[in-house]
Amino acid sequence: MTAPVVIVGTGLAGYNLAREFRKLDGETPLLLITADDGRSYSKPMLSTGFAKNKDADGLGMAEPGAMAEQLKAEVRTHTRISGIDPGHKRLWIGEEQVPYRDLILAWGAQTVQVPIEGDAGEAVFPINDLEDYARFRAAAAGKQRVLILGAGLIGCEFANDMSLGGFEVELVAPCEQVMPTLLHPAAAAAVQAGLEGLGVRFHLGPVLTRLQRAAKGLEAHLSDGTLIPCDLVVSAIGLRPRIDLAAAAGLQVNRGVVVDRHLRTSHGNIYALGDCAEVDGLNLLYVMPLMSCARALAQTLAGNPTAVAYGPMPVTVKTPACPLVVSPPPPGREGEWQVEGQGLDLKVLCRDADGNLLGYALTGAAVMEKLALNRQLPALMA
Ligand SMILES: Cc1cc2nc3c(=O)[nH]c(=O)nc-3n(C[C@H](O)[C@H](O)[C@H](O)COP(=O)(O)OP(=O)(O)OC[C@H]3O[C@@H](n4cnc5c(N)ncnc54)[C@H](O)[C@@H]3O)c2cc1C
Repeated sequence: MTAPVVIVGTGLAGYNLAREFRKLDGETPLLLITADDGRSYSKPMLSTGFAKNKDADGLGMAEPGAMAEQLKAEVRTHTRISGIDPGHKRLWIGEEQVPYRDLILAWGAQTVQVPIEGDAGEAVFPINDLEDYARFRAAAAGKQRVLILGAGLIGCEFANDMSLGGFEVELVAPCEQVMPTLLHPAAAAAVQAGLEGLGVRFHLGPVLTRLQRAAKGLEAHLSDGTLIPCDLVVSAIGLRPRIDLAAAAGLQVNRGVVVDRHLRTSHGNIYALGDCAEVDGLNLLYVMPLMSCARALAQTLAGNPTAVAYGPMPVTVKTPACPLVVSPPPPGREGEWQVEGQGLDLKVLCRDADGNLLGYALTGAAVMEKLALNRQLPALMA
Protein backbone atom coordinates (compact mmCIF):
# COMPACT_ATOMS: atom_id res chain seq x y z
CA MET A 1 0.00 0.00 0.00
CA THR A 2 1.27 3.52 -0.83
CA ALA A 3 2.24 5.55 2.22
CA PRO A 4 0.03 8.65 2.51
CA VAL A 5 0.88 12.30 2.21
CA VAL A 6 0.69 13.34 5.86
CA ILE A 7 -0.16 16.88 6.95
CA VAL A 8 0.38 17.72 10.63
CA GLY A 9 -2.05 20.47 11.65
CA THR A 10 -5.60 21.37 10.62
CA GLY A 11 -5.39 25.16 10.92
CA LEU A 12 -5.70 27.39 7.87
CA ALA A 13 -2.34 26.12 6.57
CA GLY A 14 -3.14 22.40 6.86
CA TYR A 15 -6.71 22.49 5.55
CA ASN A 16 -5.96 24.95 2.73
CA LEU A 17 -3.03 22.85 1.55
CA ALA A 18 -5.25 19.75 1.58
CA ARG A 19 -7.90 21.60 -0.44
CA GLU A 20 -5.40 22.84 -3.02
CA PHE A 21 -3.82 19.37 -3.27
CA ARG A 22 -7.18 17.70 -3.86
CA LYS A 23 -7.87 20.07 -6.76
CA LEU A 24 -4.84 18.49 -8.46
CA ASP A 25 -4.79 14.93 -7.13
CA GLY A 26 -7.90 13.08 -6.05
CA GLU A 27 -6.29 9.70 -5.47
CA THR A 28 -3.12 9.79 -3.37
CA PRO A 29 -3.98 8.76 0.22
CA LEU A 30 -4.06 11.84 2.45
CA LEU A 31 -3.87 11.84 6.24
CA LEU A 32 -4.28 14.93 8.43
CA ILE A 33 -3.27 14.72 12.07
CA THR A 34 -4.11 17.36 14.64
CA ALA A 35 -3.62 17.83 18.36
CA ASP A 36 -6.93 19.74 18.60
CA ASP A 37 -10.52 18.81 17.77
CA GLY A 38 -10.01 19.31 14.02
CA ARG A 39 -12.86 21.73 13.48
CA SER A 40 -12.33 24.01 10.50
CA TYR A 41 -12.45 27.69 11.44
CA SER A 42 -10.94 30.99 10.41
CA LYS A 43 -8.51 32.04 13.16
CA PRO A 44 -8.73 35.80 12.40
CA MET A 45 -12.38 35.62 13.50
CA LEU A 46 -11.25 34.93 17.08
CA SER A 47 -10.68 38.65 17.55
CA THR A 48 -14.10 39.72 16.26
CA GLY A 49 -16.20 37.18 18.19
CA PHE A 50 -17.67 39.57 20.74
CA ALA A 51 -18.54 42.28 18.22
CA LYS A 52 -20.21 39.67 16.01
CA ASN A 53 -21.70 37.91 19.03
CA LYS A 54 -20.26 34.53 18.08
CA ASP A 55 -19.04 31.97 20.58
CA ALA A 56 -16.60 29.18 19.68
CA ASP A 57 -19.36 26.97 18.25
CA GLY A 58 -20.60 29.91 16.18
CA LEU A 59 -17.10 30.35 14.72
CA GLY A 60 -16.62 26.68 13.84
CA MET A 61 -17.29 26.18 10.12
CA ALA A 62 -17.08 22.39 9.66
CA GLU A 63 -16.62 19.31 11.83
CA PRO A 64 -13.60 17.07 11.14
CA GLY A 65 -15.85 14.32 9.73
CA ALA A 66 -17.23 16.70 7.12
CA MET A 67 -13.70 17.91 6.31
CA ALA A 68 -12.52 14.30 5.87
CA GLU A 69 -15.34 13.64 3.42
CA GLN A 70 -14.81 16.87 1.52
CA LEU A 71 -11.05 16.26 1.25
CA LYS A 72 -11.25 12.52 0.63
CA ALA A 73 -8.83 12.20 3.54
CA GLU A 74 -8.49 10.67 6.97
CA VAL A 75 -8.50 13.26 9.76
CA ARG A 76 -7.13 12.11 13.11
CA THR A 77 -8.08 14.49 15.91
CA HIS A 78 -6.75 14.91 19.46
CA THR A 79 -3.59 13.19 18.24
CA ARG A 80 -0.22 14.73 18.98
CA ILE A 81 2.89 13.95 16.93
CA SER A 82 5.73 13.17 19.31
CA GLY A 83 8.63 12.62 16.90
CA ILE A 84 9.82 12.39 13.29
CA ASP A 85 12.22 9.83 11.85
CA PRO A 86 13.24 11.32 8.47
CA GLY A 87 15.65 8.46 7.66
CA HIS A 88 12.80 5.91 7.67
CA LYS A 89 10.07 8.32 6.45
CA ARG A 90 7.86 7.76 9.45
CA LEU A 91 6.59 9.79 12.37
CA TRP A 92 5.76 8.87 15.90
CA ILE A 93 2.57 9.25 17.88
CA GLY A 94 3.80 7.95 21.21
CA GLU A 95 4.71 4.31 20.47
CA GLU A 96 2.78 4.20 17.19
CA GLN A 97 4.67 4.61 13.91
CA VAL A 98 3.02 6.27 10.90
CA PRO A 99 4.76 6.00 7.49
CA TYR A 100 4.57 8.89 5.04
CA ARG A 101 5.32 9.49 1.37
CA ASP A 102 5.73 13.21 2.05
CA LEU A 103 5.33 14.94 5.40
CA ILE A 104 4.06 18.50 5.73
CA LEU A 105 4.50 20.43 8.95
CA ALA A 106 1.62 22.87 9.40
CA TRP A 107 1.69 22.85 13.18
CA GLY A 108 1.61 26.61 13.74
CA ALA A 109 3.03 28.73 16.54
CA GLN A 110 2.46 28.62 20.25
CA THR A 111 1.68 31.48 22.58
CA VAL A 112 4.56 32.87 24.58
CA GLN A 113 3.84 32.49 28.28
CA VAL A 114 5.70 34.07 31.16
CA PRO A 115 5.37 32.94 34.77
CA ILE A 116 3.34 35.41 36.83
CA GLU A 117 3.62 35.59 40.60
CA GLY A 118 0.50 35.36 42.76
CA ASP A 119 -2.34 32.91 43.31
CA ALA A 120 -4.44 33.66 40.20
CA GLY A 121 -2.39 32.25 37.30
CA GLU A 122 -5.38 30.21 36.06
CA ALA A 123 -7.23 33.47 35.33
CA VAL A 124 -4.72 34.23 32.53
CA PHE A 125 -6.03 33.16 29.10
CA PRO A 126 -3.94 32.90 25.93
CA ILE A 127 -6.25 32.83 22.89
CA ASN A 128 -4.63 31.17 19.88
CA ASP A 129 -7.20 28.61 18.76
CA LEU A 130 -10.87 27.74 18.93
CA GLU A 131 -10.48 25.67 22.11
CA ASP A 132 -8.66 28.55 23.88
CA TYR A 133 -11.48 30.81 22.76
CA ALA A 134 -14.16 28.47 24.11
CA ARG A 135 -12.37 28.39 27.50
CA PHE A 136 -12.14 32.17 27.57
CA ARG A 137 -15.79 32.69 26.60
CA ALA A 138 -16.89 30.30 29.36
CA ALA A 139 -14.76 32.09 31.96
CA ALA A 140 -15.87 35.55 30.77
CA ALA A 141 -19.59 34.89 31.20
CA GLY A 142 -20.96 37.40 33.70
CA LYS A 143 -17.58 39.17 34.07
CA GLN A 144 -16.98 42.83 33.40
CA ARG A 145 -13.31 43.82 33.59
CA VAL A 146 -10.61 42.45 31.26
CA LEU A 147 -6.90 43.16 31.44
CA ILE A 148 -5.01 42.49 28.20
CA LEU A 149 -1.27 41.79 28.23
CA GLY A 150 0.46 42.88 25.02
CA ALA A 151 0.03 45.83 22.64
CA GLY A 152 0.77 43.97 19.42
CA LEU A 153 -1.73 43.45 16.61
CA ILE A 154 -3.59 40.73 18.48
CA GLY A 155 -3.69 42.57 21.83
CA CYS A 156 -5.08 45.68 20.09
CA GLU A 157 -7.68 43.66 18.16
CA PHE A 158 -8.86 41.97 21.36
CA ALA A 159 -9.01 45.36 23.11
CA ASN A 160 -11.27 46.69 20.37
CA ASP A 161 -13.45 43.58 20.22
CA MET A 162 -13.90 43.16 23.95
CA SER A 163 -14.77 46.86 24.33
CA LEU A 164 -17.44 46.42 21.69
CA GLY A 165 -18.57 43.34 23.62
CA GLY A 166 -19.28 45.52 26.65
CA PHE A 167 -16.17 44.81 28.76
CA GLU A 168 -14.13 47.44 30.56
CA VAL A 169 -10.71 46.95 29.02
CA GLU A 170 -7.26 47.89 30.31
CA LEU A 171 -4.12 47.03 28.37
CA VAL A 172 -0.59 46.75 29.72
CA ALA A 173 2.60 46.31 27.68
CA PRO A 174 6.30 47.09 28.20
CA CYS A 175 6.66 49.33 25.14
CA GLU A 176 6.26 52.98 24.29
CA GLN A 177 3.61 52.59 21.59
CA VAL A 178 1.13 50.04 20.27
CA MET A 179 2.38 47.55 17.62
CA PRO A 180 6.00 48.70 17.98
CA THR A 181 7.46 46.22 15.47
CA LEU A 182 4.82 46.96 12.84
CA LEU A 183 3.91 50.65 13.02
CA HIS A 184 5.41 54.10 12.64
CA PRO A 185 4.84 56.03 15.92
CA ALA A 186 2.36 58.46 14.30
CA ALA A 187 0.11 55.62 13.09
CA ALA A 188 0.46 53.89 16.45
CA ALA A 189 -0.69 57.05 18.24
CA ALA A 190 -3.76 57.24 15.98
CA VAL A 191 -4.73 53.62 16.73
CA GLN A 192 -4.19 54.15 20.45
CA ALA A 193 -6.34 57.30 20.36
CA GLY A 194 -9.09 55.41 18.52
CA LEU A 195 -9.09 52.66 21.14
CA GLU A 196 -9.01 55.20 23.97
CA GLY A 197 -12.07 56.75 22.38
CA LEU A 198 -13.82 53.42 22.97
CA GLY A 199 -12.77 53.51 26.62
CA VAL A 200 -9.66 51.28 26.54
CA ARG A 201 -7.14 52.38 29.20
CA PHE A 202 -3.46 51.90 28.26
CA HIS A 203 -0.52 51.29 30.60
CA LEU A 204 2.47 51.38 28.26
CA GLY A 205 5.89 50.85 29.90
CA PRO A 206 5.30 48.60 32.92
CA VAL A 207 4.76 44.83 33.07
CA LEU A 208 2.41 42.72 35.15
CA THR A 209 4.41 41.42 38.11
CA ARG A 210 1.75 39.82 40.29
CA LEU A 211 -1.84 38.64 39.91
CA GLN A 212 -3.79 37.72 42.99
CA ARG A 213 -7.30 37.00 44.12
CA ALA A 214 -9.13 39.81 45.89
CA ALA A 215 -12.44 40.04 47.77
CA LYS A 216 -14.08 40.85 44.43
CA GLY A 217 -12.26 39.52 41.36
CA LEU A 218 -8.52 39.94 40.90
CA GLU A 219 -5.80 42.49 41.60
CA ALA A 220 -3.12 42.99 38.95
CA HIS A 221 0.07 44.63 40.22
CA LEU A 222 2.24 46.39 37.65
CA SER A 223 5.99 47.05 37.91
CA ASP A 224 5.39 50.82 38.20
CA GLY A 225 3.26 50.32 41.34
CA THR A 226 -0.14 50.62 39.60
CA LEU A 227 -2.84 48.28 40.87
CA ILE A 228 -5.60 47.30 38.43
CA PRO A 229 -8.74 45.55 39.65
CA CYS A 230 -9.96 43.09 36.99
CA ASP A 231 -11.85 39.81 36.52
CA LEU A 232 -9.85 38.12 33.74
CA VAL A 233 -6.52 38.49 32.00
CA VAL A 234 -5.93 37.83 28.29
CA SER A 235 -2.32 37.11 27.37
CA ALA A 236 -1.35 38.35 23.91
CA ILE A 237 2.36 38.81 24.45
CA GLY A 238 3.52 36.95 21.36
CA LEU A 239 3.70 33.78 19.34
CA ARG A 240 6.69 31.49 18.81
CA PRO A 241 6.79 29.10 15.82
CA ARG A 242 6.81 25.45 16.91
CA ILE A 243 10.30 24.16 16.05
CA ASP A 244 11.25 21.70 18.80
CA LEU A 245 10.17 18.43 17.14
CA ALA A 246 11.74 19.53 13.86
CA ALA A 247 15.03 20.39 15.59
CA ALA A 248 15.00 17.06 17.44
CA ALA A 249 14.61 15.28 14.08
CA GLY A 250 17.70 17.08 12.77
CA LEU A 251 15.87 19.52 10.49
CA GLN A 252 17.34 23.00 10.15
CA VAL A 253 15.51 25.54 12.30
CA ASN A 254 15.97 29.21 13.01
CA ARG A 255 13.07 31.40 14.15
CA GLY A 256 10.83 28.89 12.35
CA VAL A 257 11.35 25.60 10.53
CA VAL A 258 13.69 26.63 7.72
CA VAL A 259 12.34 25.97 4.20
CA ASP A 260 13.33 27.08 0.71
CA ARG A 261 10.95 28.58 -1.84
CA HIS A 262 9.65 25.10 -2.61
CA LEU A 263 8.67 24.91 1.07
CA ARG A 264 11.19 22.08 1.43
CA THR A 265 12.98 21.64 4.74
CA SER A 266 16.59 20.53 4.96
CA HIS A 267 15.21 17.01 4.49
CA GLY A 268 13.89 16.16 1.01
CA ASN A 269 10.46 14.70 1.74
CA ILE A 270 9.51 17.05 4.57
CA TYR A 271 7.90 20.43 3.92
CA ALA A 272 6.53 23.22 6.11
CA LEU A 273 4.13 26.15 5.70
CA GLY A 274 2.06 28.51 7.82
CA ASP A 275 3.04 30.05 11.15
CA CYS A 276 5.72 27.42 11.85
CA ALA A 277 7.66 27.99 8.60
CA GLU A 278 10.48 30.37 7.82
CA VAL A 279 10.28 30.66 4.05
CA ASP A 280 13.51 31.88 2.47
CA GLY A 281 14.22 33.86 5.65
CA LEU A 282 10.67 35.21 6.19
CA ASN A 283 8.46 33.98 9.05
CA LEU A 284 5.16 35.80 8.43
CA LEU A 285 2.33 34.93 10.80
CA TYR A 286 -0.53 35.94 8.48
CA VAL A 287 -3.08 34.32 6.22
CA MET A 288 -2.05 35.72 2.81
CA PRO A 289 1.44 34.19 2.80
CA LEU A 290 0.20 30.78 3.89
CA MET A 291 -2.37 30.77 1.07
CA SER A 292 0.38 31.45 -1.49
CA CYS A 293 2.46 28.67 0.07
CA ALA A 294 -0.48 26.24 0.01
CA ARG A 295 -1.04 26.78 -3.72
CA ALA A 296 2.64 26.36 -4.59
CA LEU A 297 3.19 23.34 -2.34
CA ALA A 298 0.09 21.58 -3.67
CA GLN A 299 1.62 21.79 -7.16
CA THR A 300 4.92 20.40 -5.91
CA LEU A 301 3.21 17.50 -4.11
CA ALA A 302 1.21 16.75 -7.25
CA GLY A 303 4.43 16.36 -9.24
CA ASN A 304 4.90 19.87 -10.64
CA PRO A 305 7.68 21.49 -8.54
CA THR A 306 6.67 25.12 -7.95
CA ALA A 307 8.47 27.87 -6.05
CA VAL A 308 6.38 30.30 -3.99
CA ALA A 309 6.50 34.04 -4.65
CA TYR A 310 5.10 36.73 -2.36
CA GLY A 311 3.70 39.91 -3.83
CA PRO A 312 2.99 42.86 -1.50
CA MET A 313 1.38 41.54 1.71
CA PRO A 314 -0.54 44.40 3.39
CA VAL A 315 -2.22 43.47 6.67
CA THR A 316 -5.67 44.76 7.59
CA VAL A 317 -5.80 45.16 11.36
CA LYS A 318 -9.27 44.67 12.87
CA THR A 319 -9.44 47.80 15.01
CA PRO A 320 -12.61 49.48 13.71
CA ALA A 321 -12.18 52.20 16.36
CA CYS A 322 -9.36 53.34 14.08
CA PRO A 323 -9.19 51.26 10.88
CA LEU A 324 -5.62 50.32 9.99
CA VAL A 325 -3.88 48.77 7.01
CA VAL A 326 -0.13 48.33 7.22
CA SER A 327 2.54 47.10 4.85
CA PRO A 328 5.98 47.35 6.43
CA PRO A 329 8.97 47.82 4.11
CA PRO A 330 10.57 44.52 3.00
CA PRO A 331 13.31 43.38 5.41
CA GLY A 332 16.61 45.14 4.79
CA ARG A 333 15.09 48.00 2.74
CA GLU A 334 15.56 51.40 4.36
CA GLY A 335 13.65 54.55 3.54
CA GLU A 336 12.36 57.89 4.78
CA TRP A 337 8.95 58.11 6.46
CA GLN A 338 6.49 60.91 5.74
CA VAL A 339 3.31 61.58 7.67
CA GLU A 340 0.29 63.24 6.05
CA GLY A 341 -3.15 63.93 7.50
CA GLN A 342 -4.39 64.59 10.97
CA GLY A 343 -6.31 63.09 13.87
CA LEU A 344 -7.14 59.45 13.22
CA ASP A 345 -6.81 59.82 9.44
CA LEU A 346 -3.14 59.38 8.58
CA LYS A 347 -1.22 58.37 5.51
CA VAL A 348 2.26 57.35 6.60
CA LEU A 349 4.49 56.43 3.66
CA CYS A 350 8.01 55.06 3.47
CA ARG A 351 9.97 55.86 0.28
CA ASP A 352 13.51 55.04 -0.81
CA ALA A 353 16.02 57.65 -2.02
CA ASP A 354 14.57 57.41 -5.58
CA GLY A 355 11.05 58.09 -4.34
CA ASN A 356 9.82 54.49 -4.72
CA LEU A 357 7.21 53.39 -2.23
CA LEU A 358 8.56 50.73 0.16
CA GLY A 359 5.78 50.49 2.72
CA TYR A 360 2.91 52.29 4.40
CA ALA A 361 0.55 52.56 7.33
CA LEU A 362 -2.92 53.95 6.62
CA THR A 363 -5.29 54.82 9.44
CA GLY A 364 -8.90 55.99 9.64
CA ALA A 365 -10.33 57.35 6.39
CA ALA A 366 -6.90 57.01 4.69
CA VAL A 367 -7.36 53.21 4.43
CA MET A 368 -9.44 53.98 1.32
CA GLU A 369 -6.16 54.62 -0.52
CA LYS A 370 -4.77 51.14 0.00
CA LEU A 371 -5.62 49.69 -3.42
CA ALA A 372 -3.90 52.50 -5.29
CA LEU A 373 -0.85 52.27 -3.03
CA ASN A 374 -0.68 48.47 -3.20
CA ARG A 375 -0.01 48.76 -6.93
CA GLN A 376 3.16 50.74 -6.14
CA LEU A 377 4.52 48.42 -3.42
CA PRO A 378 7.50 46.16 -4.07
CA ALA A 379 7.00 42.39 -3.92
CA LEU A 380 8.05 40.91 -0.60
CA MET A 381 9.66 37.91 -2.27
CA ALA A 382 9.69 38.17 -6.05
C1 LIG B 1 -6.64 36.41 17.35
C2 LIG B 1 -5.93 36.32 16.03
C3 LIG B 1 -6.31 37.14 14.99
C4 LIG B 1 -5.66 37.08 13.76
N1 LIG B 1 -6.05 37.91 12.75
C5 LIG B 1 -5.44 37.83 11.57
C6 LIG B 1 -5.85 38.66 10.48
O1 LIG B 1 -6.78 39.48 10.60
N2 LIG B 1 -5.22 38.54 9.28
C7 LIG B 1 -4.18 37.66 9.10
O2 LIG B 1 -3.64 37.58 7.99
N3 LIG B 1 -3.75 36.86 10.11
C8 LIG B 1 -4.36 36.92 11.33
N4 LIG B 1 -3.95 36.10 12.35
C9 LIG B 1 -2.88 35.12 12.06
C10 LIG B 1 -3.43 33.91 11.31
O3 LIG B 1 -4.66 33.54 11.85
C11 LIG B 1 -2.42 32.76 11.38
O4 LIG B 1 -1.26 33.18 10.68
C12 LIG B 1 -2.92 31.44 10.79
O5 LIG B 1 -4.23 31.13 11.21
C13 LIG B 1 -1.94 30.32 11.15
O6 LIG B 1 -2.42 29.09 10.66
P1 LIG B 1 -1.57 27.75 10.84
O7 LIG B 1 -2.39 26.70 10.19
O8 LIG B 1 -0.18 27.95 10.40
O9 LIG B 1 -1.49 27.49 12.42
P2 LIG B 1 -2.60 27.06 13.48
O10 LIG B 1 -3.93 27.59 13.11
O11 LIG B 1 -2.05 27.42 14.81
O12 LIG B 1 -2.70 25.48 13.36
C14 LIG B 1 -1.76 24.63 13.93
C15 LIG B 1 -2.30 23.21 13.92
O13 LIG B 1 -1.25 22.30 14.30
C16 LIG B 1 -1.73 21.41 15.31
N5 LIG B 1 -0.57 20.94 16.08
C17 LIG B 1 0.35 21.65 16.78
N6 LIG B 1 1.29 20.83 17.31
C18 LIG B 1 0.94 19.57 16.95
C19 LIG B 1 1.51 18.27 17.18
N7 LIG B 1 2.65 18.08 17.86
N8 LIG B 1 0.86 17.19 16.68
C20 LIG B 1 -0.28 17.33 15.95
N9 LIG B 1 -0.84 18.54 15.69
C21 LIG B 1 -0.24 19.64 16.17
C22 LIG B 1 -2.74 22.26 16.06
O14 LIG B 1 -3.61 21.43 16.80
C23 LIG B 1 -3.45 22.96 14.88
O15 LIG B 1 -4.36 22.10 14.26
C24 LIG B 1 -4.58 36.16 13.59
C25 LIG B 1 -4.18 35.34 14.65
C26 LIG B 1 -4.85 35.42 15.86
C27 LIG B 1 -4.40 34.53 17.01
